[in-house]
Amino acid sequence: MNLLTNQDILIIGGGVIGLSIARKLHQKGLRKITIVERGNLGQESSFAAAGILAAQAETDKIDDFFHFCIESNLLYPPFAEELIDETGIDIELDKNGTLFLALTEDDEAEIRRRFQWQKKAGLRIEYLSAAEVRKVEPFISPDVRAALFFPDDRQVENRRLLAALQKYAVINKINVVEDAEVKSLLVENKKVIGAETSDVKFFAEKTVLATGAWTSHIKIGENALPPLRVVKPIRGQMLSFKTAKRLFSKVIYSPRGYIVPRQDGRILAGATVEDVGFDKSVTAGGIDFVRENALEIAPSLMNLEVSEKWSGLRPYAPDGLPILGEFPQMENLFIATAHYRNGILLAPLTAEILACKIAENKDSKYLEIFSPRRFQK
Ligand SMILES: Cc1cc2nc3c(=O)[nH]c(=O)nc-3n(C[C@H](O)[C@H](O)[C@H](O)COP(=O)(O)OP(=O)(O)OC[C@H]3O[C@@H](n4cnc5c(N)ncnc54)[C@H](O)[C@@H]3O)c2cc1C
Repeated sequence: MNLLTNQDILIIGGGVIGLSIARKLHQKGLRKITIVERGNLGQESSFAAAGILAAQAETDKIDDFFHFCIESNLLYPPFAEELIDETGIDIELDKNGTLFLALTEDDEAEIRRRFQWQKKAGLRIEYLSAAEVRKVEPFISPDVRAALFFPDDRQVENRRLLAALQKYAVINKINVVEDAEVKSLLVENKKVIGAETSDVKFFAEKTVLATGAWTSHIKIGENALPPLRVVKPIRGQMLSFKTAKRLFSKVIYSPRGYIVPRQDGRILAGATVEDVGFDKSVTAGGIDFVRENALEIAPSLMNLEVSEKWSGLRPYAPDGLPILGEFPQMENLFIATAHYRNGILLAPLTAEILACKIAENKDSKYLEIFSPRRFQK
């Protein structure tokens, strides 16, 4: 058994959440940081995502989670600028806003209701007529009846974001161990002192679980802690169309799907929401569903080549909310997972509050609200 000792921080899981936390902790002055990753960094849910920063378009009520989304979205412009300075990688933060189309009578009633409550709540939102939407996006369906415009909902190229965060780790000598699956945590007197794979023991002052959909697999001895057991995978399948030039300027939703125009001309379409365990297959039924919903938004996509199909596993907790912060009754153990459909959006604020807690013992109301304590039985 090999040993890696004397680390300040051990981060298990190298997706957008683990990588963002590593960067923030490094910025706060911690130097002995190790990320242990089962496969290769940034190849799971964070890679599969569409990169939509939809604080408003996907929300139906104003609650703590909504505020968490809005605050994280606000961190994106400085986050993107810092990453360019630090790594030279542009994460293509696109501020053109997001449209939500009504294509049926029911859709129209739905967006009218959403417009009214969001307007009343003082949020930035516009109601566009069919003619107004078509002027902005000429290639959308002629069946469009109206649309909402969310100027503050954006998108980012999540694969470039992962590349930037990985480069930050390399430049700043954050230790990365790939192809290493952590099986269990090492515990002494109710204190977590590290973790072990089949052939390495890692010892650290503090351990962070950023293990996404696989969190329930982590054991202490033979047992999984209750807050870990509840996390499960929800599959999402997507595809992308290839175009030579950009046909759409904004992220465009309908109540059934979405399309995301990238700067290089690709148009992503998503996504299924499937409770099928750890099966990452791309299925004929899943891809048909995604393609049909995309064609409903823009029938002209019919003539484009499908350049890629993929799937990913979103980490989901039973109440649909993230699990963040310190573990009850287990010292030196922190968790940041269950970001479900919003992990790209929520990465900057998650990293900020976790790093403040770990490095400076500074609390945040969100660590209370999303605490793993709610699943402790
Ligand atoms: C199809 C799809 C579309 C999405 N679209 C969006 C979107 O538009 N906007 C948005 O904000 N979010 C979106 N999401 C959600 C977002 O992708 C996730 O919430 C986010 O990526 C979660 O990040 P993570 O780092 O927790 O998980 P992951 O990226 O899955 O990373 C977890 C990492 O931990 C590693 N790991 C797990 N167990 C172990 C272990 N025992 N030992 C070592 N390593 C381990 C895994 O290999 C993995 O690399 C989408 C997700 C999917 C699937």
